[in-house]
Parts: sequence; C-alpha cells; structure tokens
Amino acid sequence: MKRLMFPGTFYVGNDILKDFTKLASCYGKKFVFIGDEVSLNVSKDQLASSFEGSDCECTFILGGKLCCTSEVERISNIEEVKNADCICAVGGGGSMDISKAVAWESGKNLVMIPTTASSDAPCTFVSLRYSEDGAHIISDYMHYKCPEMVMIDSKIVANAPTRLIAAGMGDAMATWYEGTACYRNKKEGPQITETAIALCEMCKKIIQRDGLAAYEAVKAKIVTPQLENVVEANCFLSSMGGLNSGNACGHGFGDWLASVEGGHDYLHGERVFVGLIVQMILEKYPMEEILNMIEFGRAVGLPVCVGDVTKEDVKEVAERAGKELQDDHFMVNLNCDYSPNVLSGAILYAQYLADNLEDEMIIF
Ligand SMILES: [Zn+2]
Repeated sequence: MKRLMFPGTFYVGNDILKDFTKLASCYGKKFVFIGDEVSLNVSKDQLASSFEGSDCECTFILGGKLCCTSEVERISNIEEVKNADCICAVGGGGSMDISKAVAWESGKNLVMIPTTASSDAPCTFVSLRYSEDGAHIISDYMHYKCPEMVMIDSKIVANAPTRLIAAGMGDAMATWYEGTACYRNKKEGPQITETAIALCEMCKKIIQRDGLAAYEAVKAKIVTPQLENVVEANCFLSSMGGLNSGNACGHGFGDWLASVEGGHDYLHGERVFVGLIVQMILEKYPMEEILNMIEFGRAVGLPVCVGDVTKEDVKEVAERAGKELQDDHFMVNLNCDYSPNVLSGAILYAQYLADNLEDEMIIF
C-alpha cells in the first residue's frame, strides 16, 4: 500500500484573514476560534470583519496554551464549541493540538490559522497531548485526515520574531535528509511515494534559495515573495514531505536534546537542526555540504551543535546520547552505523566543526 495525505486547502497571503469567511464558508456556518491572547490580538479584528454581511457566525475563545486533558475537556464543554460546525486554531502548537483534539473527537471540520511559520504542525494529522504540568508528552494521536483548511497571513508572520521563522527553517531543512534516509530504508508498512520525496526536495531547495532573504524580510517586518516561499516550505512542504516519508536522526537526536539541561528552552526546529548536522556526519555527506549547513544555521541564528543548547559537558552529553538513542523510533530509520561510539563521535565532530568554523580554521 502507498499513502499520501494532505490538508484540503492551503492559503498564504498578505492580509488574507479578511477573506476568511469567503474561503471557509464551505466548511459550515458556525465557527469557533481558539487561541491565546497574543495570537488573537493580531488576528481577531480581521477575522471578525470577514463575517460582516455574511450569514455565518463566529465566537472567539481564549485558551489553548497547553494541550492537556483538562484544557481539551474545558473547551469541548463550552456551548458554542458543542454547537460549532468548524473549529479554528489560531496561533501556535498549543491551540493547534487542542483544536485538532476537539474537532476530531467530535467529528467537526478543522481550520488552522498559524500566526508564525515556526513549525510544520498546521498541516499534520497528529495531535500531541501533554501532562497537566506540560513537562512531558502523554500521547500523540494520529488521525486519518489532515485539517480541512490551513490559512497563513504572511503579514502576521513577517511581524513575528525572527527566531520563529528560523526555527521553522531548521525543521524544514531536515525534511529531505530524513525523508531520504527513510526512503532508502525499505521497511514494512505503507511505502514512501516518489511524490513525498519530491516534496521533501522542493522544501530543501526553497530554504537554500530563499531562506536568508526570508530571514532578512522578517527582520525588516516586510512581506516579500521569498518570505512567502519559505512559509510554504516551512508549513506545507515540510509537513507533507515529512509526514508522508519519515524522520531519522534530525528528529531522533533533536527531540532527545530536550532532555539535556536547558534543552527545553529551545524550539523544536532549533533542536532538529542540531540533529540534522549530526545525521549529515553519520551519513557521510560531503564536508562542503555539512559546512555550508553549519554556516546557514549560524547566519539565521540557529543552534548547530550541542554546545549551543546546553552548558552541560559536551563529551558527557555525546556519550549519554550514544547509549540512549540506540532504540529510538526515528534513529532506527537510518541506514548507517549509529552504534554508541559512532553516534557520540559524530556529535563531538559536529561540535568540532562548529567551533572551528567560528575561528575560520577549516581548510579544504
Ligand atoms: Zn519537526
């Protein structure tokens, strides 16, 4: 069996939220928007104005910082939510995970309105649920469909901090390297399609071509074609390529980095980028390509090595990772040796390259 999953529609545009009702009324008449204060502040006026003169209704609900069982239950029990045709997430990962849980458990339509381009969560069919204190993930619910619609206002993205678009690029840049590892590693279950690998490749090409320009555009808070291309890569291609292929060391080591001291302070895509450099070393990519990747990371403020994300001793972290990641569900997708000594060696070598790149000591 082969499988491809996509969201129903995907829109990116400058000031696009004022067109919400026109584009979304095919999904129902009663819409509920769930978001935190910051996300609703930057979007509510435009969304509400799109309902003027239409026969659709809207309700805005404050919440969704953390997707835990009590918050999903609180929101599910709100009268307007029970009566809604369509649940709309506004903002970041928390409101998207909660909206997915609420919509999918009640069979309602689902719309994603991310206010940053920091991750590939908007298009995915996965909803993460955290413990009540947010310390760990207690379940990752996989649905059989992606959201009905994803809508991203590039003006809002351009006005978000640069760190967020950079993190999205860290996550997106890893997509092709990880997808290719999975593609080469023919495992049981649904086979990876040529389409998925082509999407991964397009994702990488866009970030390589437009990544720096998009980063500068966000610095200047200006919407440019390059920025909108990177939004497409970060939010659509990264998730459609990644979900329809798979993950390897980028996410395996990147997710594990959340367990080191200070690792939690880094964003998902930032940690994945550190994992990507290690994967490139393990899989013996040309040194020039690895160094270019480290330079790209430095240019957009991404961490590139363990020493960038923790004050812990790098050797000790490398040794621990080498031992603890042997059975990791993403690492097993690699087609190369990642036995404890080899993996910790690659982590230390990434550190060496990053340290010496700064000193301009690397000689080809
Ligand atoms: Zn990711």
